[in-house]
Amino acid sequence: MGELLVEVMRPRRGMSLSQPDEFLGPFPSGATGIFIDMVARLGHSAAIVSGVGDDDFGKCLLERFERDGVDASRVLVVPNKATGVAFVTYFEDGSRRFLYHWDHTPAVMAKAPTVADVRGARFLHIMGCALMPNRDFRAEVFKAVGRFVRAGAKVSFDPNVRAELLSGRSVSSFIGPVLKSCSVLLPGERELQLLSGLEDIDAAAKRLLARPPMETIAVKRGSRGCTVYSQGSKLHVPSYQVREIDPTGAGDCFDACFLCGLLEALPLEECARNATAAGALNAAAFGPMEGDISRQSIRVLREQQDRR
Ligand code: ATP
Ligand code: MG
Repeated sequence: MGELLVEVMRPRRGMSLSQPDEFLGPFPSGATGIFIDMVARLGHSAAIVSGVGDDDFGKCLLERFERDGVDASRVLVVPNKATGVAFVTYFEDGSRRFLYHWDHTPAVMAKAPTVADVRGARFLHIMGCALMPNRDFRAEVFKAVGRFVRAGAKVSFDPNVRAELLSGRSVSSFIGPVLKSCSVLLPGERELQLLSGLEDIDAAAKRLLARPPMETIAVKRGSRGCTVYSQGSKLHVPSYQVREIDPTGAGDCFDACFLCGLLEALPLEECARNATAAGALNAAAFGPMEGDISRQSIRVLREQQDRR
């Protein structure tokens, strides 16, 4: 459950968002949307609770879900409202800036599904960014967390903190109820430090793992790969080498692939390797949800580089 957006991108680095110039898009996006589409492309049953407007940008998102097999029957299509949009540009140093138009859009208008509706689901995945723009939507997501847990699902959570959405507010005020129910945490290094209040990554992971029902923490480290902590174990997986074109969405694809590995009861190292490969393939393609990322392309990348 979370946001759906289209993304409109500057085609090259170093183009500010304040001057008239070229854009490319719309690309289907929203961290939640990228995540669920990747789950479906990996062959698992996947549904999203979200919203779009009754417009062409909404159509762009719904057509992608139709193509890739995401159940979009719980996506509200709101008449006379515009679909959420994010504009993004990258700078020469690799940093990026987002400009979001999604508060007061259908991206944050969905209601929590009922307990009966979510029966049989194995995971509810939440992106922290979806909790940031709108208080009412945050309350619906918290409600959904309770209902999924009552229906027997586990909660996975990626804090996905976006400075542009925080407006100076503290992260912890947004995410408490999700973190409390979370079994699988998928943060970046900085986010893990924020959530734990500790600088040292090992100590931070240990502190959060001590809080039930936390089982697994996979820390994403960009082009340095990932480190996975579970009760009593720690393993590091280096990244796969690709030419980075657009890293937006890499973390969301990582999350999806890692979770699919857990659904398939793969060993944590396999989950981490597949997820790291999916992240790399996403970073190598222009557009947040683009690129050929499939079981096949993940296997090929792993075969090429696992024995380095
Ligand atoms: P974001 O700030 O976008 O939310 P994130 O912390 O969720 O980022 P990243 O760490 O950027 O996610 O990326 C997730 C994974 O994708 C990484 O752990 C890594 O395995 C892979 N990845 C990302 N960027 C690259 C890259 N340039 N080259 C190879 N692999 C990459
Ligand atoms: Mg992320």
